[in-house]
Amino acid sequence: MYAEEVADMAGRIRDEDIALVRERTSIADIISETVTLRSAGGGNLKGLCPFHDEKSPSFNVSPARNVWYCFGCGAGGDAIKFLMDSDHLSFVEAVERLAARAGIQLRYVESDSSAPRSRPQQGQRQRLVAAHAAAVEFYRSQLTTAPARPAREFLAARGFDRAAAERYACGFAPDAWDQLTKHLRQRGFTADELVTAGLSRPSRSGTLIDRFRRRLMWPIRDITGDVIGFGARKLFDDDDGPKYLNTPETPIYKKSHVLYGIDQAKREIAKQGKVVVVEGYTDVMACHLADVPTAVATCGTAFGADHISVLRRVLFDSDERAGEIIFTFDGDAAGQKAALRAFDDDQRFVGRTFIAVSPDNMDPCELRLAKGDLAVRDLVARREPLVDFALRHVISRFDLDTVDGRVEAMRRAAPLVAKIKDREKRPEYVRKLAGDLGMEIEPVQRAVQAALSTGAGREAPAPATRSAAQPAVDSPQSMVEREALKLALQQPVLAGPMFDAVEAAEYRHPVHVAVREAIAAAGGVAAATGGAVWIESVRDACTDLAGQALVAELAVEPLRIDGEPDPRYVSVTMARLQWGSVTGRIKDLKSRIQRINPVSNKDEYFALFGELLSLEQHARALREQAAGGL
Ligand SMILES: [Zn+2]
Repeated sequence: MYAEEVADMAGRIRDEDIALVRERTSIADIISETVTLRSAGGGNLKGLCPFHDEKSPSFNVSPARNVWYCFGCGAGGDAIKFLMDSDHLSFVEAVERLAARAGIQLRYVESDSSAPRSRPQQGQRQRLVAAHAAAVEFYRSQLTTAPARPAREFLAARGFDRAAAERYACGFAPDAWDQLTKHLRQRGFTADELVTAGLSRPSRSGTLIDRFRRRLMWPIRDITGDVIGFGARKLFDDDDGPKYLNTPETPIYKKSHVLYGIDQAKREIAKQGKVVVVEGYTDVMACHLADVPTAVATCGTAFGADHISVLRRVLFDSDERAGEIIFTFDGDAAGQKAALRAFDDDQRFVGRTFIAVSPDNMDPCELRLAKGDLAVRDLVARREPLVDFALRHVISRFDLDTVDGRVEAMRRAAPLVAKIKDREKRPEYVRKLAGDLGMEIEPVQRAVQAALSTGAGREAPAPATRSAAQPAVDSPQSMVEREALKLALQQPVLAGPMFDAVEAAEYRHPVHVAVREAIAAAGGVAAATGGAVWIESVRDACTDLAGQALVAELAVEPLRIDGEPDPRYVSVTMARLQWGSVTGRIKDLKSRIQRINPVSNKDEYFALFGELLSLEQHARALREQAAGGL
């Protein structure tokens, strides 16, 4: 299909010009405007495929061979094909866009066909972008005129000087019916083009008039920096239009995809692995100027799935480097609703979504004005995981001083916990929710389980516990746990207090935990005298069938030591056993510390840090103990 299209269209642009465009185009430059690329070795590059949904990169680019190919979905081609696919351009449009970049003047050959049917459609995108570029210059030049004073005052009152206005190419739409339209018509744009671009519209009398009048204008750019539309702010009281007016849907402006500021923010978003989503043009400007260069805003629509797909490519959302989305809200009900809706939208992002609610209900622009750049940076630093935010929001609606209130709050909050896709995080949130509600963990756990089974979590159930299966003997941790239990069953007098001091919680394998608990229930090793009576009493105390079978097995299995075990062997075994669980706890603690906001939770932060230091000390001691003799 691609080849046919080339053959069909190539007659219109001269072949040697197309060849020149290919030659002068760096495929890596073109693709890295949309996809974050990193080295794949051998001079090749890779990234997340923009054409299918994936978590690890299978999209490959070979700059040497000037081709790209995705192993995931099979899409591939040259730079022209990439632009056609990613920006929905025709072949001619893509060639025109690349030619403009490379400074190549294209020559066209007239088709033999006497019906130049698609002539007006050709290069449409380039024409619409060119019309917008001309409109930007027109509006900018108007900003310095006398009637534009309210526009300049609006910017100044929000802390934006002339340099800021120029950086964002702010402009002014004059108080005239058709000044822009006439200006653009004189420059050769057709009435059709201006209407299609959303810059002009027919009046009731049928004449063509400007879409935007008496407004402060922000050019809206796509990710490559092309202006594709405008946002227009009302300035005058007698303007009875909405506060903000945006370009309508056009062939190049799709509001569900547009993110204001993405062209300036994309490199930092990719570099920092995070993006800050704010609500308006002035908020984007304020954030960038306050050194939060990763800010973008949606334009006249809520943040949705298409925005996420745009951001995913820039964020390089893969397992090796997780991206973070931070929403800022001024704390009003609408903002909170938007945040909770984001929870429903894309489960993959729940764990990486954060909420930053500004103090005193100020947006970033107001915050910068009132408290300076540092306050804006603080706002972003003081972010909170979306799950925490959502739970707090749900719980706050109930009176937790009453039993009914607590139970109802639990019922409403449990489905949110069930929705957490990362199931390893769920127990953590069950504990947190129980703590917040002032309830026991068990009923909260049951409520979450119930929500999961009614489909709130909509995913495969957790793997069944291996209570009936043989414990895996291959993992080092499992082996050392077996060895400890063998010592307790076969040499209780030797194992003694050293064994008893290590609690069941330190064991990882569920069946091992059951046996360890049975040993405690039978009175503990220190009190045991050994022999068949001891083994019997442990078996009797074991409520787990697999555990009972394991007790019989471990009672006779030889120890993994040549000769007779001594106290040092017990000490080393118990140290190695704890080493596994302590390093696991260190890992968990580090992850908790990472999620804590050091600004707003200073006390908790330092407490956990202290806990981490003492655990690490404990781990060092265990390592020494474990090394002592083996
Ligand atoms: Zn793909």
